Amino acid sequence: MAPKTLAILTSGGDASGMNPAVRAVLRTALNYGLEVYAIFEGYQGMVDGGDKIQRMAWSNTSGILQRGGTVIGSARCAAFRTHEGRRQAARHLLEHDIDSLVIIGGDGSLSGAHLFRQEWAGLLVELVELRQVTTEMALRHPALSIVGLVGSIDNDMYGTDMTIGADSALHRIVEAIDAINSTAASHQRTFVIEVMGRNCGYLALMSGLATGADWVLIPESPPDVENWEEKLLEVLRAGRKAGRRDHIVVMAEGARDRNGQPISATHVTKMLEDKLGEEVRLTVLGHVQRGGAPSAFDRNLGTLVGHAAVETLMNGKPDDEPQLIGMRGNRIVHTPLMQCVEKTRAVAEAVAAKDYEKAMELRGGSFNESFRTLRTLVRALPHPRDPGQTPLRLMVMNSGSPAPGMNAALRSAVRIGLDRGHVMLGVRNGFDGLASADIVELDWMSVDGWASLGGSELGTNRNVPGDSEYYKLARNLEEFKVQGLLLVGGWLGYQTAYQLFAARRMFTAFNIPIVCLPATIDNNLPGSELSIGADTALNTIVEAVDKIKQSAVALRRCCIVEVMGRYCGYLAMMGGLATGAERVYLNEEGVALRDIQTDLERMLQEFQDRKRLGLIIRNEFANVTYTTEFMRTLFEQESKGLFDVRQVILGHMQQGGSPSPFDRVQATRLAARCIDYLIEQATSEAPESAFIGLEAGKVQFRPLEDFPRMVDEAHARPKKQWWLELKPIAQRLALPMPVQPAPSAPKK
Ligand code: ADP
Repeated sequence: MAPKTLAILTSGGDASGMNPAVRAVLRTALNYGLEVYAIFEGYQGMVDGGDKIQRMAWSNTSGILQRGGTVIGSARCAAFRTHEGRRQAARHLLEHDIDSLVIIGGDGSLSGAHLFRQEWAGLLVELVELRQVTTEMALRHPALSIVGLVGSIDNDMYGTDMTIGADSALHRIVEAIDAINSTAASHQRTFVIEVMGRNCGYLALMSGLATGADWVLIPESPPDVENWEEKLLEVLRAGRKAGRRDHIVVMAEGARDRNGQPISATHVTKMLEDKLGEEVRLTVLGHVQRGGAPSAFDRNLGTLVGHAAVETLMNGKPDDEPQLIGMRGNRIVHTPLMQCVEKTRAVAEAVAAKDYEKAMELRGGSFNESFRTLRTLVRALPHPRDPGQTPLRLMVMNSGSPAPGMNAALRSAVRIGLDRGHVMLGVRNGFDGLASADIVELDWMSVDGWASLGGSELGTNRNVPGDSEYYKLARNLEEFKVQGLLLVGGWLGYQTAYQLFAARRMFTAFNIPIVCLPATIDNNLPGSELSIGADTALNTIVEAVDKIKQSAVALRRCCIVEVMGRYCGYLAMMGGLATGAERVYLNEEGVALRDIQTDLERMLQEFQDRKRLGLIIRNEFANVTYTTEFMRTLFEQESKGLFDVRQVILGHMQQGGSPSPFDRVQATRLAARCIDYLIEQATSEAPESAFIGLEAGKVQFRPLEDFPRMVDEAHARPKKQWWLELKPIAQRLALPMPVQPAPSAPKK
């Protein structure tokens, strides 16, 4: 039977993104008509009872989406580790008829929950014997249902690609390192930066990758040589010689050497200062990493897993094995809770036992791949070419509008290519540059510092060659003896790459492997659920909307925010989900006058009922006739002074800015794969061409010839767009709904 009462608590270390999850759990449950409680201060609140367990209404969940930490408090609780403590907790739950719990915490909190559930029946027997609850009360709740969500900045849990809070922490770290980088470069200084992660090097590894750090120390894979200090010094000295002005060493707090001896940040700092004979500064980032508003990704992650947690409880049976709900790629996944806890602990155990190979194996494929890529990118110079090797000549270029992360992709491509012994050519200014032979040979240092730069250092534009220019393109490819081409760009770049591929029989110069890497804020490319740049743009939108919301609180105002995306509604839809917009207008669904009228009537009603702020997000091409300006004037006219209406067109700020950690990391990872692909294809007898992408969290190549089949040409977007499925969830969480029947309840 579906639960009638549900409670949520956050436990252990707080993480940014817990609030979106709390909001989603409460609102989804309220939509099902459940009685909903928040338990304040984690397990401590459950043990203490009283006003620590409070009934929640829709209004309690307003305005928390953008807040860091957890509004319902979190704590560590010694009492819950004792049998008596848990018995008391059970009594307090029964007092409110609660037998379904959503717990957001780390592996400690989740194993506590598991134990509590196992003991439940026994605890009830004891409570009846002690006359603290009635037999009838106990019989009403024979079992405890729990669902776990992972809130942890370390990204250290099995069962989910990302834990709630890790992406926000990475934002904080990357912002800090970027800032330090600029001062370090001004004074030719070396900085040591310590980030969180006792057993998990995720934050250190990914921030190192994202900022172009010179050295990274993680617990799972200590330096593989005894004299690691010498090796580090060697790399830094060689870097200086090669022209680097600054050095950044990123280390996890749990860094250690091969023998399991902790390596402290002060030791590294002192050692470098002594041996390099220059000033070395240490920055321990500490709690900065936990703070701040959740990133767009964490808001959507928290929201989606929070929603799924309640769905799981509504669909489940009390004696089902408790599940942990996470995400793989963009899909919700359920995994038995204790399996996740055990596998997570196995990594810490392997690290403690100095079995680093096992620790890395348990961390999984993309962690290992990132670490391998990092080890190449941080080199002061590439490996020397084999004397017998005939280098390939590989070309890289951008095409289309700039997308944050393009530079990170090219940095990675160029360095990986050089390290494999090949010649790397760069085309300036997209296809115009290829037509006019604006081509340069790139060396190791020519891409130094590119990881964190927005825009396109090589240059890009939206010009594409006409048929008459193919001859010039072919001639230049031949002249420069190009044997493989990596194109990092958007729709027009993909389209052109496909056309060159299709014309390869006429122009033999086009008969080389071509690989396209998706880089556009629009996220409108086939073969990838996400394109590079979209995450940065989404964060820009979310930050802007947060400010707009704040500016409007003193008034009664409806804001209509127009976002980019051309005919693809991804930014509008995900921006709406992350900001709690009550309405999102998309071209994919079309906009009918009656929709606008319904929204207007609803809004009038709500403002009459004391609503203060209305938020609508509209894709720029949602409808050519019902423009943002049209909607503004219509709403303004009809509001009759009850509220004012403002339109905000976010415009090109969405294409700019420093790339988000996610965009940098994915760009680096995908570009490394593309170069390996080009090397493989260029040396094969029948070279193929492809576009790379992320699908269900995995890197995939699809044949370039599939491009036309996979897209809606007229609207320049893929035929299948996974994120459209999220629309009903966004809508259900934005506004209170008439009570939904429970899934298992018979329909009338
Ligand atoms: P995290 O959940 O972030 O890993 P902790 O390990 O500190 O953080 O756990 C948070 C709280 O969960 C603890 O203070 C305790 O109340 C509860 N808890 C953790 N482990 C257990 C356990 N084995 N048995 C019962 N309660 C536990």
